[in-house]
Amino acid sequence: MKLKTLEMKLQRLAGFTRPRASLEQYQTPATLAARLLYDALMSGDIGGKRVCDLGSGTGMLAIGASLLGAESVVGVEIDEKATEVAKENSMLLAADVEFIVADVKDEALSARIGPCDTVVMNPPFGAQKAHADRPFIDLALSIAPVTYGIFNSGSTPFVQAYTNGRAEITGIVSGTFPIRRTFSFHTRDVQEIGVEILRLKRILP
Ligand code: SAH
Repeated sequence: MKLKTLEMKLQRLAGFTRPRASLEQYQTPATLAARLLYDALMSGDIGGKRVCDLGSGTGMLAIGASLLGAESVVGVEIDEKATEVAKENSMLLAADVEFIVADVKDEALSARIGPCDTVVMNPPFGAQKAHADRPFIDLALSIAPVTYGIFNSGSTPFVQAYTNGRAEITGIVSGTFPIRRTFSFHTRDVQEIGVEILRLKRILP
């Protein structure tokens, strides 16, 4: 499938019905999601692989991974309502994704998900709760050797420091994330924020 085709398909997905600010629920724009997934595909991290989307929301990354030929895909999301939308989205595009409603901080979760080849995620950036992305990074490194994550631009040194000795950053792609006016504290109709897609490769102890 071409990048443009993937993008067009993902554009059809429904977003959060009632987004929750505390969970930093922002659907990844289709163009950015397609970019992350396509890079991952080209690096051999999607085709025939078991892929896990942490904080799968309405399913954007998980569904895209399935469409690109992942062998199996599991999405993990704390919000049941968002997961209902994700399931409908998955049916809409005839994707094959298993969704688990759970908190990434749940210690029994990694056993439930089982080992994966690749994690894709757009974790909370920590705008509402500092370091909200850390349990995502920890779980990702515990279940998969390779992780693609979307972070605020400028986060690279912090992610590198946090994963120190556990992972190396082997790819950085810059992009933009248009955030539409969603919550009362938003002051503009659309605000573009800079993001970085990081590829983390686990270092075995
Ligand atoms: N992956 C989706 C959503 C990104 S927004 C997309 O790319 O469009 C971040 C998601 O993480 C939200 O859906 C939010 O509900 C979820 N989330 C936040 N904290 C979580 C936690 N502790 N455990 C699981 N999911 C969580």
